[in-house]
Amino acid sequence: MKETSNHVAAIGKRKKIALIAHDDRKKDLLEWADFNRLTLSMHELFATGTTGRLLFDELGLDVMSFKSGPLGGDEQIGANIVEGNIDFMIFFWDPMQSHPHDPDVKALLRIGVLYNVPMACNRSTADFMISSPLMDKAYKRTMVDFEKRIKRDIPI
Ligand code: PGA
Repeated sequence: MKETSNHVAAIGKRKKIALIAHDDRKKDLLEWADFNRLTLSMHELFATGTTGRLLFDELGLDVMSFKSGPLGGDEQIGANIVEGNIDFMIFFWDPMQSHPHDPDVKALLRIGVLYNVPMACNRSTADFMISSPLMDKAYKRTMVDFEKRIKRDIPI
């Protein structure tokens, strides 16, 4: 079944940014967020529980925190991407350890790709993203139109 790419969702000038880091990547994320604190403060910030607490305690960033990742926070971020409430993601996941919530991590990455959300999983990509001229412009995010799939005939 061929899907067409004609669904468009706007990413506003003020982005709705999710920030997530696994424990061994939190230092990296905090350093990156500190360096980019001014830019980040101009957007709406969301995070998983512990990452959000650190961003607030260490950098004073105003962040809406969900549950901690292993307690469902990644899934909450994913659900908010689906609902259109988050449209930009910085997710420093740990490539050297497995976690109890690996299925949730995989699900979140999948949803990010499906909804064509700009997504950085390492610091270099995050640097390129945050210094993009698109950071202070609105952007049209095209998405695959799954209408045909939803309306497909099911043999019952
Ligand atoms: P945390 O969750 O910010 O609550 O540590 C991150 C994660 O493990 O996905």
